[in-house]
Amino acid sequence: MVLGGGFGGAQAALTTDGLLGDGHRITVVDRSEASYLCGANPLLMVGERPRAGVTRPLATLAEHGIDLVLDEILTIDPDGRRVQTTRQVLPFDYLVVALGAVYDWNAVPGSGAAGSFYDHAHSVALREAVGRFEGGKVVVAVSGAPYKCPPAPLEAALVLEWHFRKRGVPAQIHLCIPEPAPLAVAGPETAKRVADVLTSRGVVLHTQATATSLEDSGRRVYLSDGSTLDADLSMVVPVHRAPAVAVEAGLTMGMPWVPVDPETLETRAAPGVFAVGDVNSIPIGGERALPKAGVFASAQGRLAAEVIASRVLGTSPPAPYDGAGSCFLHLSGEEVAEVGGVFLAPGGPQVGLGDPRPASFKERWEAEWQRFEI
Ligand SMILES: Cc1cc2nc3c(=O)[nH]c(=O)nc-3n(C[C@H](O)[C@H](O)[C@H](O)COP(=O)(O)OP(=O)(O)OC[C@H]3O[C@@H](n4cnc5c(N)ncnc54)[C@H](O)[C@@H]3O)c2cc1C
Repeated sequence: MVLGGGFGGAQAALTTDGLLGDGHRITVVDRSEASYLCGANPLLMVGERPRAGVTRPLATLAEHGIDLVLDEILTIDPDGRRVQTTRQVLPFDYLVVALGAVYDWNAVPGSGAAGSFYDHAHSVALREAVGRFEGGKVVVAVSGAPYKCPPAPLEAALVLEWHFRKRGVPAQIHLCIPEPAPLAVAGPETAKRVADVLTSRGVVLHTQATATSLEDSGRRVYLSDGSTLDADLSMVVPVHRAPAVAVEAGLTMGMPWVPVDPETLETRAAPGVFAVGDVNSIPIGGERALPKAGVFASAQGRLAAEVIASRVLGTSPPAPYDGAGSCFLHLSGEEVAEVGGVFLAPGGPQVGLGDPRPASFKERWEAEWQRFEI
């Protein structure tokens, strides 16, 4: 049984189905009929993607013979091996928890009244505000770490700068991030290259500065470094948390995210219960954890499926998870670069920033996602 049909859950289900074949039942439970590709939101907010978003229907999983249950998951009972949804109790032999992260709009007072590109509904509202914007100060502020796809706020700042320049709208963009440097997780060389791109485009970078509260519908932004920014347009990256249903099941073991064996993605709390994607936390050395991103969630979903299939079939387990993957960083509406590498390489993360490529490169990735290949 797979909880969540997003990046991680879909790949876990499809891979298990492919490896086990007939004689086994794979069930995916999700409350939503379709997934939105959040990676398209920065372009959606400047009108470069359809207002309806980039989506894929979960019904496609059913076409592969996977049982699809569209329902709210209420409780997970790891010891009793069952999941309670609004309408039924579902027993399982193996479980993959791929429930993602939830946004806590109350953690930073006033953040709910500002703009955001972190979900589809907010991105659509922001598209209207960006379209009406006639000039002034724009603030893009992260509320705290960890947050999905660390390149996304940088990308939003760069895409906005490109969009307003193209429209001839005078805008000064301020970007506030918790890290000491942009993409600090990718090492000092990458961080410097990204900081140079931002400053060369006139983006004012505030490091180790997160939004602590917002007033007047986001027109005043208070930051953790004690400064205040008055904004004509503001947008926040909300505080992320593990879903309550995973916490209440004991899977987080008192920590903010679900701890897992980094080699197999089996939860520390319950044998035969795996956690993949944004819901887990995988240390990569020091205080750092693997970034939360769809590419990692997909790869983890596949790996957990291979581990489960090897146990069911009595075959050799797969090679340990390597934390390989890269995210996209749109430098404008026309150019995109990849940032990533192997985060669990022996000796420490091997991560860097690729050279700029035409934006069509990412469009191909979006199409692959829509075909459930990612
Ligand atoms: C602006 C932005 C840009 C991004 N860009 C990129 C990018 O370029 N590349 C990249 O790889 N990643 C990117 N990401 C990150 C990526 O979207 C996430 O990391 C990814 O979606 C995580 O996958 P997941 O399977 O862990 O969770 P999700 O995809 O969030 O799936 C979780 C699923 O669980 C379901 N669910 C949750 N709780 C319940 C419940 N109680 N009952 C029923 N169903 C439930 C949800 O409906 C959802 O379908 C970006 C994110 C944002 C916000």
